[in-house]
Amino acid sequence: MSKQAVFQDVISDYSFVLSFVCKILTMNTVPDTRYVFVTGGVASSLGKGIISASLAKLLQARGYSVTIQKLDPYLNIDPGTLNPYEHGECYVTEDGAETDLDLGHYERFLNVPTSQANNVTTGRIYQSVINKERRGDYLGKTVQIVPHITDEIKRRIKLLGSKNRFDVVITEIGGTVGDIESLPYIEAVRQLKWEMGSRTVVIHLTLVPYLAASGELKTKPTQHSVKALLEEGVQPDILVLRTEMDLASDIRKKVALFCNVDSKAVIQSIDVKSIYEVPVKMQEEGLDHIVLEKLKLPIGKAPELKEWKAFLNKLHTAKKTVKIALVGKYVELPDAYKSIVEALIHAATYNDHKVEIESVQSEHLTKENVAEKLKGAQGILVAPGFGHRGFDGKLVAVNFARQNNIPFFGICLGMQCAVIEFARNVLNLENANSKEMDHTTLYPVIDLMEDQKNITDKGGTMRLGSYDCSIKKGSIAYEAYNTENIKERHRHRYEFNSEYLAEYEKNGMISTGTNPDTDLVEIVEIPKHKWFVGVQFHPEYNSTVLNPHPLFMSFIKAAISIKFDK
Ligand code: GLN
Repeated sequence: MSKQAVFQDVISDYSFVLSFVCKILTMNTVPDTRYVFVTGGVASSLGKGIISASLAKLLQARGYSVTIQKLDPYLNIDPGTLNPYEHGECYVTEDGAETDLDLGHYERFLNVPTSQANNVTTGRIYQSVINKERRGDYLGKTVQIVPHITDEIKRRIKLLGSKNRFDVVITEIGGTVGDIESLPYIEAVRQLKWEMGSRTVVIHLTLVPYLAASGELKTKPTQHSVKALLEEGVQPDILVLRTEMDLASDIRKKVALFCNVDSKAVIQSIDVKSIYEVPVKMQEEGLDHIVLEKLKLPIGKAPELKEWKAFLNKLHTAKKTVKIALVGKYVELPDAYKSIVEALIHAATYNDHKVEIESVQSEHLTKENVAEKLKGAQGILVAPGFGHRGFDGKLVAVNFARQNNIPFFGICLGMQCAVIEFARNVLNLENANSKEMDHTTLYPVIDLMEDQKNITDKGGTMRLGSYDCSIKKGSIAYEAYNTENIKERHRHRYEFNSEYLAEYEKNGMISTGTNPDTDLVEIVEIPKHKWFVGVQFHPEYNSTVLNPHPLFMSFIKAAISIKFDK
């Protein structure tokens, strides 16, 4: 063999091995990020967030790296300044962004943290365009919605793909097609679809109502909604139809025909008892399959979703019930304490129980009626919050839990209430309070944090995001977390006033978790009590379907052990 032939042989062997290695390394990695857009029509609250999270879950289970982004068409910079009655819970990310509650679903489904980039509002888009205009970046040009606002929307969408190298970015467009507010977003989707072709897919979620009087399922609203989307220049690739009843194939064919989509791209999303069933339903309907096909990505075998299904199995088969009273001032609105409710469901399920949540309006809670209102509660959770409304009732709930040795979990303001109740009734500090509620109090056991004192702007200025906490060995918290160092997310301006710590500890309420850098008290406990824990942070944001939160697990376990005579 000539030298050259040997060389060629080696090279070809080498390149074969190299190409094989490359293939292994690039299995399911995507050279260019793909973009899936989820729009909604006919009605609001159809569950775009759950559909997006379910699709993301299914793609993730197939080995793709996926993230979800929510675009909210309102003018607030973020929902941090919104009353929960307006928009439900404000969800806080690790990096301290105050975001839409849908990001909570994304994290609970995907078990992967989100960030500021995952939630963009119209306010934020306009703010950056106007800042650029003031800096003179537009060089004398007229600044317009198209192309300047739409360019900024497109930049924010693409940012997640390019910065973090996700294989698939799912962007959920808030609002309903046809709204004035969502026009620039739909226009941005139109442009991206035009630019990126088969790297994009548009999923449109609509409703097929059932008319009981005539016994019929109606497709006309869907047809009109797709027409509205077409008027804005976007042809959906996949339709997901919310329905109370199974959609027969003739209905799907009819929708496909009128809306220019493949009939197998007409997917039903039937009402289910738990949102956690939706990924399984979507897999049965082939949503992930059709998305991958349209994006021209390898499909492979359908994942088994073993752990997910094991959770669902526990959720459905649990027979015993644990009753928890959730005391707060927004209890009429189920979305206001979304993450807490979900964290309770996760923890109860893994403890083989169903959780019955008794929502208790703290505004109506008094010393006289507390025994009646909290009757039968095996655990009492006092919710976070701001301001006076319902504050006194929360103190009454803490007192009831403490005196009756009922497991008590106080979160953020709930923890502060526990501290105030203890000051007033055990330390005998009359009218002890938080400076938030009474800035003239003689005993400010909860005080404004030092670095908050000169802050005047309300938006995005609290102590936000993840902070370290060191836990004392031997405490309930240590037993639950099984580690001395944790990280939890915060959202507050007030804190435990450490000047009183020695007095508290002498009298039976101790600090079991502190910030290692500032010594801020983050956890208080009453060791003599059955289970009494107050946390300055929000553990509920960290509970996911596959990773229930250790403190919620421990709280539920303690609650289950409480038996009342029937
Ligand atoms: N209002 C309290 C504070 O600002 C508690 C906040 C909360 O419960 N998230 O410190």
